[in-house]
Amino acid sequence: MIVVLCGEALPLKAGLIQHLVQKSFYLRSGQEFDGLEPDKNYVVDGPASVPGLQPWRDRGSLIVWVAPNSQPAAKGERVIANETPESDAWEVLNQWILAAMREQERPGWDEYFMKIAQVASMRSNCIKRKVGAVIVRDRRVVSTGYNGTPRGTRNCNEGGCPRCNSLASSGTRLDECLCSHAEENAIVQAAYHGTSVKDGILYTTFAPCLMCSKMIINSGIIEVVFNVDYPLNDTSFQLFAQAGIRIRQHRLS
Ligand SMILES: [Zn+2]
Ligand SMILES: [Zn+2]
Ligand SMILES: [Zn+2]
Repeated sequence: MIVVLCGEALPLKAGLIQHLVQKSFYLRSGQEFDGLEPDKNYVVDGPASVPGLQPWRDRGSLIVWVAPNSQPAAKGERVIANETPESDAWEVLNQWILAAMREQERPGWDEYFMKIAQVASMRSNCIKRKVGAVIVRDRRVVSTGYNGTPRGTRNCNEGGCPRCNSLASSGTRLDECLCSHAEENAIVQAAYHGTSVKDGILYTTFAPCLMCSKMIINSGIIEVVFNVDYPLNDTSFQLFAQAGIRIRQHRLS
């Protein structure tokens, strides 16, 4: 989170900044808004007046003015009167920060696992499409996979799969493709390590094809969540329905 302390350079403001630095907040000057990392806490020695504050407002900062008691706060902003004793001011600031931290949004489970699948897809070496999958049990990732040619063979993007590297139109000559699919690889990786995927949930960035659907069913996975669907996938959906496997879409935001 970002806490911006605004107002004249008074001892109280400097004291509060110091408190936050001691709490492992990284200190930034009022113009240093580039390169901020979302997983870190920052305290900003903010401007004495409103101009220059907008970039910090845009970044969802907690804005606190150390100012004369009479200064009205803008919506969502806070004021600490500059005659407040430092220990009292720190107490108040601390409460505001804790409240703001509690309100900070974090991704839900679907978003979290689908994003991990998306990161996995970036390791794909297939030139046709990049797909990633993760298998989750008890809200823990037990396996991941992405599509590409089999282990120890030439990568698809280095010419490994003649079908992917030819101009075959989509849906044709699928039996000639040498690339394993992401869902297939996630199931196979679990087998490689001797990990059961029974009762697991599979997250995939692309709805599973018929071949993967059959593997998913027989591996004991009970639910499939996909990001992007594709047309002509009815057979997979019907098979899942018949096998009693839930399938649903979670579009990444
Ligand atoms: Zn390929
Ligand atoms: Zn291929
Ligand atoms: Zn597949």
